[in-house]
This record gives sequence, structure tokens and C-alpha cells, in this order.
Amino acid sequence: MAEKRDYYDILGVEKGSDKKDIKKAYRKLAMKYHPDVSDDPECAEKFKEISEAYAVLSDEDKRHTYDQFGHAGMGGYSTEDAFRDINFEDIFKGFGFDFGDIFDIFGFGGGRRRSQAQRGNDVIYELDITLEDAAFGLETDIEVPHKKVCPTCGGTRAEPGTETRQCATCGGTGQVQHINRTPFGQFVNVAPCRDCRGEGVIVDTPCHECRGKGIVRETNTIHIKVPAGVEDGSRLRVPGEGDVGIKGGPSGDLYVMISVKAHPLFERHGSDLLYEQPISFVQASLGDEVDIPTIGEEVVSLKIPAGTQPGTSFRIKGKGMPHLRWNGKGNLYVKAKVIVPKKLSTKQKEILREFEEISGKEIYTEDKGFFDKMKDAIKH
Ligand SMILES: [Zn+2]
Ligand SMILES: [Zn+2]
Repeated sequence: MAEKRDYYDILGVEKGSDKKDIKKAYRKLAMKYHPDVSDDPECAEKFKEISEAYAVLSDEDKRHTYDQFGHAGMGGYSTEDAFRDINFEDIFKGFGFDFGDIFDIFGFGGGRRRSQAQRGNDVIYELDITLEDAAFGLETDIEVPHKKVCPTCGGTRAEPGTETRQCATCGGTGQVQHINRTPFGQFVNVAPCRDCRGEGVIVDTPCHECRGKGIVRETNTIHIKVPAGVEDGSRLRVPGEGDVGIKGGPSGDLYVMISVKAHPLFERHGSDLLYEQPISFVQASLGDEVDIPTIGEEVVSLKIPAGTQPGTSFRIKGKGMPHLRWNGKGNLYVKAKVIVPKKLSTKQKEILREFEEISGKEIYTEDKGFFDKMKDAIKH
């Protein structure tokens, strides 16, 4: 057997990653390798591998043991154990995967079949936008894959023109009963029929388009409007654009998860923006007027007063992000980053030395704060 790969490498996460990042990485890979969507012939193996890695790294105790001892510490922990430990319903919520299938695919049993009408799954779409998009709002078309009834067989799962037959094992009910006799009495167990996978009918000639699933994956173009002021991590709901319902159930919804990319200039804090403006020690000492970029095109002018200390913040009102729920905007905070020159010419050095000589030390005395003044007052 090939050597086991490192769980962190498998999920492509750093050793110190938190639970949220690990879950996110797993969901991304699961979307890629789930046998329902992947064309990779090795997808089932890969899916098993990432699931095992996730089961270990998402569990504090197991992860701790793995960090200390590696695979050797995991003992007889198997992929099947991994599947038992993962709450697939939670992981795949919104992805349109039937997690019952996972158990069937890997032959672990415990699969769940549906024979009644059910609402289609919600579908999640992750949309990355820029801070500018978040500031001004955005209208865009997104391509969303979701499940719909197969147009070729109309959901019957059979190739058009061929017949299906009632399952003899369950008599078309999709369920079988097992009677267990025990010293305490007789128990009746009802389980989905294995021969027809709970469907009640046997399809001898599966539809070529959906490969007998009755459902196909299709990409829809959906026009969405992202409102100005949208926050990172917020989600937009588009009703009815999720997966189609099963056996006549209603469609699920589409959730567009918004992720706002980091901006090279601005740091966002709610509706406020933070910007660091480099200024020279001369500008800081003498004062100046500087141009400050804003999230739009325009540049605003800011007065830097003489004697500005490094790290001083200035507020420019109303130049932050728009509020999502009410009119108006947050503020832009400009922090003065005083730059001390590293390379000086002989002449520049001379001037600075002369400046130092005529200045004395008292020009560097800091303003006394309230507590210092108090101390002085007590001393005298
Ligand atoms: Zn079909
Ligand atoms: Zn059956």
C-alpha cells in the first residue's frame, strides 16, 4: 500500500488552521471530488482520502493525537470510522448532494432512500467581490450548477420507449420488512428495498442522459444584484433557484455567499475604512496638505498639522463604506505613517546635524498627558 499522505497536505491547509478553515477546505475539495459531480476516475478514492483527513482534523482529540504522533498515532482508524464521524448532512447542506448516496457509493450501508415528495436541496454559490463592488453594489450574471429533472426521461430514469417493471422483492412499495423474534417479543424492522433502492420499480434500460438517475446537473445563468454596503460573509437568497424537488416537491433555494476580497489600500471595519498615509518627517514637523485616495475615484485633500506624531489618526467624514440598511456612509480614518529616510547625501546629513545643534533636546519633549500632569501636581 502506498504511504499515507499527510492530512494537512491532503486538505491543503496550514498546520495551525482553525476549524472553520479546515471545514471550508474540505467543502471545497468535496465539491470537486464528490462522485456525483466529478469526472475524475479516481474521485471516489480521493473523496475517501479527503473525508478521512477531515474527520481527523475536525475532531480536537484526534487532531491532537495526529499532531503528536502522525499516522502512527491513529492506530486502526479507518476510512469507515471517518465516515461514521462526519456529519455529512451539515457539511453538504446546500450543495445539492444526497449524502445518503455517499454510503451507497462506498458500500458502508446506512443509505437513505426517499420515496415521498421532498423539497429540493438548497444550492450554495460562492461569489468573490472587490471592496469597490461592495461599496457601489454590483449586478452580475452567475453560472450556477444545480439539479433538475432529466428532460430525456422526465425523471422516470428509463430510456424513452422502454418499459419499467414493478420490483418483485418489495411489490412496488420500495420497502421491506424484517421480523426479528427475540425473547422479549417480535420486532418489525422496515428498511428500504435493496433491489430497487427504495424506488419500487426496476429500470432495465437506464436513460442514457441521466444514467438512470432521473435527474441531471445543469448550469443556469442567474442575474443577481449585490447591494451596496454588503459585508464579507453575508448571503443573498434567491428563492426557487436551488435543486429541483424530488417526486414533485418544491425546488430549493440558491444562496449566494459573498466574500469581499482584501483591498491593497483600505482596511474595512464595518462601515469605516482605514488608510495609512506615508508622510515624511519634514511634512510631519512642518505640516502639509496631502491627497488621500478614497474608495471611489476621487481624491480628497487632508491637512496634516505641524507637529503631527507618528500613528496620529485623522477622520474624513462620510468617505467610508455605505451602510447597508440606512442611508449615509461610514468614515475614512487616515493614520499618519511617518517615514524616516534611510539614505542621506552628505549635504542632507550636514543640514540635519546643524539642525540638531541649534535645536537642543527640549523640542523632542512629548506633550504631557493627563496622568503625567497629575503626577507633577502631586510632586510639587
Ligand atoms: Zn434521464
Ligand atoms: Zn423493491
